[in-house]
Amino acid sequence: MNYFDESPKEECGVLGIFAPNEDVARMTFFGLYALQHRGQEAAGMAVADGQTISMHKGVGLVSHVFTPNVMADLKGHYAIGHTRYSTTGSSLLRNAQPFMIETMHGPLALAHNGNLINSAELRNELMEQGVGFSSSSDTEVMTMMLARNGGATWEERIKTAMAKWIGAYSLVILTRDCVYAVRDPWGFRPLCIGLLPGGGHAVASETGALQTLGCEAIRDVKPGEVVSLSNSALKVMQALPTVNPTAMCIFEHIYFARPDQVWDGINVHHVRQRLGEELAREITEKMGSDLGDVVIPVPDSSVPAAIGFSHVTKFPYNDGFIKNRYVGRTFIEPTDSLRKRGVALKFNVINENVRDKRVVVIDDSIVRGNTTGPLIKLLRNAGAKEVHMAITCPPIAHPCFMGVDMGRHEDLIAHKRTVDEIREYVNADSLYYLSVEGMMRALKRNDGFCQACFTGAYPIPVDMTSVKTGFEKVTK
Ligand code: SF4
Repeated sequence: MNYFDESPKEECGVLGIFAPNEDVARMTFFGLYALQHRGQEAAGMAVADGQTISMHKGVGLVSHVFTPNVMADLKGHYAIGHTRYSTTGSSLLRNAQPFMIETMHGPLALAHNGNLINSAELRNELMEQGVGFSSSSDTEVMTMMLARNGGATWEERIKTAMAKWIGAYSLVILTRDCVYAVRDPWGFRPLCIGLLPGGGHAVASETGALQTLGCEAIRDVKPGEVVSLSNSALKVMQALPTVNPTAMCIFEHIYFARPDQVWDGINVHHVRQRLGEELAREITEKMGSDLGDVVIPVPDSSVPAAIGFSHVTKFPYNDGFIKNRYVGRTFIEPTDSLRKRGVALKFNVINENVRDKRVVVIDDSIVRGNTTGPLIKLLRNAGAKEVHMAITCPPIAHPCFMGVDMGRHEDLIAHKRTVDEIREYVNADSLYYLSVEGMMRALKRNDGFCQACFTGAYPIPVDMTSVKTGFEKVTK
């Protein structure tokens, strides 16, 4: 369990491979390894050999779940894989993915990144028809729908199901002799595809995983597309028209994705750097240019933004926090006294870099507000003269229903408090958030992105009374 990580969580990373001449399970393992940041609580893989599908999934990191013995039993040229962030307790393994069932059309396995807004409704419909479920996951609902849909081919059955699915889904689907990559028509979550050096193709949530596998000619799976990987050439079907404008999750750029991710032609590291630059311009316009003596990031996702901030303000950039990347990646529970140390277990301060200085701290977001105060306290204890917080996105005042765990309205600090009240709560000398306009300038786009957690303007109408965020645990 991860007792110390209070950041918002992406639901999943997905991967699919068709490689006619390769040990596809081993490739899937290394691809999933590159997607570990998108989910650390469960991992799974299903492999097909043209006749049957074998699968293994478990709780924990990719390297814990897949041992050499397990890998030896996963044989074939087609595979899908999944890394998951999920709810706590006994539901962990039950909700791990892929989901696999036998259907009248042969075996079927599915792995999903996203959240269906209408899954409760679809689930009830299926239950009324006598379908039973073994988990609370919307992915199981999707799997059952695909198994029951009429249609001569899997492409047709997928297309029919897509017409009923409302929400975010980047999917990989495995049959006995094909991998399908599917993306919702709004394009909420990323999904990209590339050519493998030894022949065949791979599909993944992020370009970094494809690069790990040596892929070339990488492109996005377009919103509404179904791509079949079973021959040397890809078979592409535009199953649903792309919604215009699209609703790509802007938070992927701000926090989730690895900095080497290129999504819709935009590099995440560059966006983060520009977010820092825009924030610096907005702050200096308001406050002048004599705010701080040093700028430090909250590692790791805020490093490029702090570099951009320093570039514009000319405040020297330095490391202030050292993060223990491995704390929390353990099943050993901390003692009560250790748990009380909270973020101090995860971050140490380089005292010499902040002592007697006015410190500007760059962070990517404040969600619940539980981490910021303790971080500021660490800096003050280390002798910082002033602590100014600069956040590279606007206040998060609305929950996400499209697959990101931010909690509910009442959990979000910016839903309950004004910016000045938050500043007081976290005990900062000043607190700045980037504006929505500044954020879009950093992306160099006017539209095409979901910003609902900042603005409350959901790209799909959401009935707050009936829709779950899909998560139980709230964070940061
Ligand atoms: S609400 Fe926020 S986190 Fe959710 S999809 Fe939209 S931008 Fe992403």
